[in-house]
Amino acid sequence: MPEKPKPRRQEQEDARREVTEIAPNILRMELPIRMPGLGHVNMYALIDDEGAAVVDPGLPTKDSWIAVNDRLKQAGLKPKDVHTVLVTHSHPDHFGGANRFRKESGAEVVAHQSFKFGVMEASDETDVSVDDLSASENDETHRQVVDRWNHRTPWGGQPPRPPFKMRMRWRMARWIGGGMIPQITKPVNAGDPLRLAGREWFVTHTPGHTEDHICFHCPEEGLFLSGDHVLPTITPHISGLAFHKDPLLQFFESLDQVAAIENVDQALPAHGHPFPDLGGRAIAIKEHHYDRLDTMKRIGRELGPANVQAFSQNLFKKRSWGEMAESETFAHLEHLRHTGDAEMHRDDEGFLIYELG
Ligand SMILES: [Zn+2]
Ligand SMILES: [Zn+2]
Repeated sequence: MPEKPKPRRQEQEDARREVTEIAPNILRMELPIRMPGLGHVNMYALIDDEGAAVVDPGLPTKDSWIAVNDRLKQAGLKPKDVHTVLVTHSHPDHFGGANRFRKESGAEVVAHQSFKFGVMEASDETDVSVDDLSASENDETHRQVVDRWNHRTPWGGQPPRPPFKMRMRWRMARWIGGGMIPQITKPVNAGDPLRLAGREWFVTHTPGHTEDHICFHCPEEGLFLSGDHVLPTITPHISGLAFHKDPLLQFFESLDQVAAIENVDQALPAHGHPFPDLGGRAIAIKEHHYDRLDTMKRIGRELGPANVQAFSQNLFKKRSWGEMAESETFAHLEHLRHTGDAEMHRDDEGFLIYELG
């Protein structure tokens, strides 16, 4: 029988049953997920005298919960021993198990104070005018503009909504027993201290991949729980559908912030293996995006004035075409607009047209 080809990237590897000890009282447990480019999510268990805290307890699915129980059992733990759930950001593969823990043990749920899982709901208004978008030089106006889209994306594409089946599933999940979106019992902010695994940790707010993304830093031991902000071999999705007027700039600032942290010996990402050079990796991710911006400028010279879809289909391979690619393209084009490298207007059909250089 032909052997299954090895995944190209470590983030794509299937979840292993094996529990690995990263540092004393800190365990890596891999939970299954099936998402584009991802095969597992790491749930870290931080053990102390009272039981354990877990970071990012996986999807709200039965399979994931079975894996959670299996991994905890290997460490001599049960769900009722988990007193705290830490959530790095508002994506279902990270917060999905939180409510289940809350039910089993009454666990405290820690996330950033701005934690919000936004499934886009259609509003009554139908259009966002180019004037609105150009005028949105402060975050609050931009928030209102983004909140108002309905049938189309701000750049004139199809609505940014998850597939119908998935929306129904979410609606059902919300309906049955309080739903999967956790109630955050302990909202935190940048700099807040937390005692975990018998050590002092500090919250780092790293908006970019999502507005509410946080990391946890333990200076004493040189450990850094990096969530999706800094991953070992892939770059996280940066959506143009953010409340910040320039989400890519926000992501760059969060990468700089992390790169400036001294004495990190080990980064513990949400996908892939722990890695040593957090600062180096943060800078490499930034460089990747600068390369993309250069590519975008080259595409702009070739295309002339063009809409987001056209830029996106030149920037991404065909298998990636779609909403996510367009949203990331939009983030890059808006960044170029804010740095003065692009001009934008809306055409008669409602599409945003960008002109570069
Ligand atoms: Zn994420
Ligand atoms: Zn993730």
